[in-house]
Amino acid sequence: MAKVKTQKLFAVIGLGRFGTSVAKTLCRMGYEVLAIDSSEERINEVAHFVTHAVQADAEDEEVLKKLGIRNFDTVIVAIGSDVQANILVTVILKDMGVRHVVAKAQNDLHGKVLTKVGADQVVYPERDMGVRVAHALVTSTVMDYLELSPVHSLVEIRSPERLVGQTLGKADLRARCGITVIAIRKGNDVIASPGADTLIEQGDILVAVGSNDDLSRFEEETF
Ligand code: ADP
Repeated sequence: MAKVKTQKLFAVIGLGRFGTSVAKTLCRMGYEVLAIDSSEERINEVAHFVTHAVQADAEDEEVLKKLGIRNFDTVIVAIGSDVQANILVTVILKDMGVRHVVAKAQNDLHGKVLTKVGADQVVYPERDMGVRVAHALVTSTVMDYLELSPVHSLVEIRSPERLVGQTLGKADLRARCGITVIAIRKGNDVIASPGADTLIEQGDILVAVGSNDDLSRFEEETF
């Protein structure tokens, strides 16, 4: 008998640019996704790539009940500019007993309100993307940037010229500039938790964690 795969069920409410991108990506990863939007046009646009697409007003609790929204493991509230609708839908979902509600915030204050009304996770796609793009613009070596906390981040950085040919042990980045290399990408290969004898080569991508100050010095090659 074929093994039954326990799959997480996702619902995405609001199919603007962010919601559409989340829904598409989850589907591409093989998950079942229910997409809900009040606009027929938006629903028609996404219908061919999600599992189910339903035109509905998510502020209507009865409609959400009929859709069995409680049975979804994670519901993403991706309504953007209509902040009131975004907050109301989050409240309704938590009231209905949805286990994990992820809500998109426009700004810090909106995010605080979402947390207070019960959102399990608040995301700030515009702010986070701005931070990532800014870091990638400042130096040509930074490829990606992820905030782990207000003071710590993870960066993907092209191996700086000054380190090429050295081993991680010789480069001694932890002692010299306070950052830890947690993985190195060499073409399609990834060396996770690389040891001190790992050679840093031209074209390698270093995945490093550190404080923002230390990472900035490293990016700007001033250590
Ligand atoms: P983005 O900034 O990510 O592009 P938008 O604010 O442009 O997001 O899009 C949000 C989507 O949410 C729109 O397609 C809109 O029709 C939908 N939407 C807004 N309010 C509701 C609601 N109450 N129920 C369902 N969908 C909604």
